[in-house]
Amino acid sequence: RYNEAVKENRNLYNMLQELRGNIRVFCRIRPTFNSTSRSSIEYIGEDGSVMVFDPLKPQSTRKVFQFNKVFGPKATQGDVYKETQSLIRSVVDGYNVCIFAYGQTGSGKTHTMCGPSGGSAKDNGINYMALNDLFSISSTRENVKYQINVQMVEIYNEQVRDLLCTLEIRTCTGNGQTSLPDAKMLPVGSTEDVINVMKLGEINRASSSTAMNDRSSRSHSILIVHVHGEEDSGEATHSCLYLVDLAGSERVDRSEATGDRLKEAQHINKSLSCLGDVITALAQKNSHIPYRNSKLTQLLQKSLGGNAKTLMFAHISPEIDSYAETISTLKFAQRVSTVELGAACANKESNEMRDLKNQIDNLKKALAIKE
Ligand code: ADP
Ligand code: MG
Repeated sequence: RYNEAVKENRNLYNMLQELRGNIRVFCRIRPTFNSTSRSSIEYIGEDGSVMVFDPLKPQSTRKVFQFNKVFGPKATQGDVYKETQSLIRSVVDGYNVCIFAYGQTGSGKTHTMCGPSGGSAKDNGINYMALNDLFSISSTRENVKYQINVQMVEIYNEQVRDLLCTLEIRTCTGNGQTSLPDAKMLPVGSTEDVINVMKLGEINRASSSTAMNDRSSRSHSILIVHVHGEEDSGEATHSCLYLVDLAGSERVDRSEATGDRLKEAQHINKSLSCLGDVITALAQKNSHIPYRNSKLTQLLQKSLGGNAKTLMFAHISPEIDSYAETISTLKFAQRVSTVELGAACANKESNEMRDLKNQIDNLKKALAIKE
């Protein structure tokens, strides 16, 4: 019933999407590992809404969150990429783009960005598909010559490390003026090149983590793709695509974490909340954007704000025992996505649109209460 109402209001939704401007938020729910376990996801709407509840308290109030798009457990890598592709095209058109994966450890961030851990080619993630698209789109532009280079870095405990240095892992300082550290840049021209680069990055990442069993969930990994175009006329363009697999967003119990674990957790919490602050400030069109509060936001500065386009994937583990983290991820994502809508609407929204939006909100509330 709700989806029918949504269909009737399709135009409204399209208009609202436009008002959202350059910041998009997609939610992706991974399949449950155990088919008999109950899921905290009650309902996924075609309009990008998701309804969750605490399966341990079946009578509790349902909570509804709204995003640009929600991908359920059955969505394929191809379904996800289809909705991402237009952003990749805009990189070739000269825009800076940042795509990042947020969520607790195990929720599917790496699956979305790289693909399954086993590495099945048919399930390749956004990183590969984006680069393949960049190769093919750029090869069809007749009067422009493109050169594509990549860098790969990791941020761990507020330190940026180059993952493509073959000899040793250097510590890159980044000078605060530029958003990019002085990390090794490798030219790529084919999928094979990209796979090799990613492998090299992963090897270097693993070799620096001997003391910890799962470093990857506690550091941010960033693949930076530089697209240089040179027109026959001599005019040059340069745009960047940042593909970010963030550290796990789970809260670490302060009473349990000590020493290195506590330090890691504090750095992760700080950088993720700085990222949230930056996007919120951008969405509210504040005059001061607090990029400098973390290495992550300093590094991503070029691809957040201005004309840059940003896409965040909020990843959800549907299991009962992840419910608290699910709510926290949905709240973070909602903060990033609706604030801008509010700000944009304040400037542009007509009375008619506001009325329609209220109607939809009421429908949602009615449905949530009835259940
Ligand atoms: P994260 O990077 O957030 O810690 P992973 O991407 O490693 O999580 O996912 C955890 C496990 O779940 C992996 O084994 C991964 O292959 C699997 N997985 C995640 N998302 C999906 C999905 N959409 N479909 C199938 N398997 C998935
Ligand atoms: Mg991961």
